[in-house]
Amino acid sequence: MEEFNSRTALISGATRGIGKAISRRFLETGAQIVGVYAGNSEAAKLFSDENQQFSERFELLQCNVADEKQVAALFTRIDVKYQSLDILVNNAGIRRDAMLAMMSYHQWQDVLDTNLTGTYLMAKQAVLLMMKHKYGRIINITSPVAHLGFAGQANYAASKAGQVALTKSLAKEVARKNITVNCVSPGFISTDFMSDLNQDLLAEYKKMVPMRRFGTPDEVADAVLFLAGNRAAYISGCVLEVSGAL
Ligand code: NDP
Repeated sequence: MEEFNSRTALISGATRGIGKAISRRFLETGAQIVGVYAGNSEAAKLFSDENQQFSERFELLQCNVADEKQVAALFTRIDVKYQSLDILVNNAGIRRDAMLAMMSYHQWQDVLDTNLTGTYLMAKQAVLLMMKHKYGRIINITSPVAHLGFAGQANYAASKAGQVALTKSLAKEVARKNITVNCVSPGFISTDFMSDLNQDLLAEYKKMVPMRRFGTPDEVADAVLFLAGNRAAYISGCVLEVSGAL
C-alpha cells in the first residue's frame, strides 16, 4: 500500500468532495501532496484537522487554477520546495447551469475558465517540470456529459469535452517522455457539487443510473490512484468511466 511513498502529487480542488477523497488516498499510500483550493478556508481547515496524522506530508494552498499568474507562482513554489512533481490531478471544477438561450456570458466563461483553461494552465506547468525528470502522471477529471451532453449544461459539457481532447493530444505529445495523461470520468457522485439540486431531481437522476445509485468520492479516488500507479504505465490518452454504467 506504500506505492506512492516517494511521489509528490499536486491535486486541485483537494479539500472537498472527490478531490478530498483523492488526497486522502494519496496520503494513506505514502505520497507527499500539495492540495489546491479556491477559497473555502473552512473546508481547508477541516481537511487539515481530519488529516493531522499526515501533517508533515501535505501542504494546502489557495490558488485559482484559472489565473495564469497564480498557477505560475504555485509551480515556482513546487519547483523550489519539492524539486520534482510526479503526479497532477486536475480535479477543480464548477458548474453554472442554464439553458443555452438563457446562459449569460459569465456563466459560459467562468465554467470554461476553471474547468478547461485551468486544466491547460496546470498541465502546461506540470509537463515542464515532469519532462526534466522523465516521469509523470496527469489525470484530468472529466464527466460523461462530455460525450452524452446534458440539457442545461452546454458550458459544462463543452469544458469537459475540451478536457478529453486536451488529454488525448497531450498524451501523444509527451508519450516518449514517460509521462501518461488520462481522464477519469465520474458519473453522479454524492458531493457538494450537487447540493443545490432538490430531492425530486436527485431521485430522477438516480433512475438514470443503471446501477440505481450514486457513486462515492472514494470510488473515483480508486480509479485515479490506479492510473497514477505503476500498473498503469502503458495506459495513456484514455478515459476511465466510473459511472455505474451510465
Ligand atoms: P465540489 O464542488 O465538491 O468541490 C470542488 C473543488 O474544486 C473545491 O475544492 C473547490 O475549492 C475547487 N475549485 C473550484 N474552482 C476552483 C478554482 N478556480 N481554483 C481552484 N480550485 C477550485 O466538486 P466535486 O468534488 O463534486 O467535483 C470534482 C470534479 O469532479 C469536478 O471537476 C467536477 O466537474 C467533476 N465531476 C463531478 C461529478 C459529481 O457528480 N460530483 C460528476 C462528474 C464530474 P473550494 O473548496 O475552495 O471552493
